[in-house]
Amino acid sequence: MLTDSHCHLDDPKYADDLEAVLARAADAGVTRILSIGTGDGPPELDRAVRLADQYPQIYATVGVHPHDAAKVTPRSLDDLRTLAAHRKVLAVGEIGLDYHYDFSPREVQREVFIEQLKLADATHLPVVIHTREAWDDTLSILRQYWKGEGIMHCFTGDAAQAREALDLNLHLAFGGVLTFKTADNIREAARITPDERLLIETDAPYLAPIPWRGKRNEPAFMAQTARKLAEVRGVTVERIASITTANFEHLCMHSRNVTRYTEVSDGN
Ligand SMILES: [Zn+2]
Ligand SMILES: [Zn+2]
Repeated sequence: MLTDSHCHLDDPKYADDLEAVLARAADAGVTRILSIGTGDGPPELDRAVRLADQYPQIYATVGVHPHDAAKVTPRSLDDLRTLAAHRKVLAVGEIGLDYHYDFSPREVQREVFIEQLKLADATHLPVVIHTREAWDDTLSILRQYWKGEGIMHCFTGDAAQAREALDLNLHLAFGGVLTFKTADNIREAARITPDERLLIETDAPYLAPIPWRGKRNEPAFMAQTARKLAEVRGVTVERIASITTANFEHLCMHSRNVTRYTEVSDGN
């Protein structure tokens, strides 16, 4: 059993075949999916929550992606606070900084990141962090404003950066990039991450692993990333599945009193 800790199931790319995508995920052993709720940004912040209401195996996050930071109003933060109380919302995210695209001014990205860290703290939820070409600013904000737990999603740093994130009490989630030929640095980071901080994700529809690189990604493809992670760490794929699932449950579900039992009972 595998848990996809980061996926965008609300993406229009799944509009026509979501049921088939979920069926293939189940066949591949991906029995739980955390769907990221950022969508196209405010005002519509409940896209993943609606999916979680519909499917027992889907859980949700709520948050504003750094790309959409400029769309935030005081109303958006109120909406996030309300949605965070939903029983299947397991984290605030993805939040952070993206200086690659700069779709929102950097100053605004930093403000909105900090506001959402405060919101996660107030609602007792872990955070899902997105950082791109903004490592130093992301870490300095986390050091100043964040004392809780969270996930550095789609971790693509090297071993030194992995240690910095681990020192901040964060989990590292590895995705399809781990399978790319040029990703030796990331594989080294995956090797040195302790068992209890390891997670796996797709970031689907983006970043499909080899041999689907460039195609639409989907949760079923994560089995390929799990195999690569097993090879890198010199363990079985079953071991990768069990530790990453246990870590996800410990980080995101125990504090919410959400257990596998509720997933089963939801299905009735
Ligand atoms: Zn991201
Ligand atoms: Zn994402």
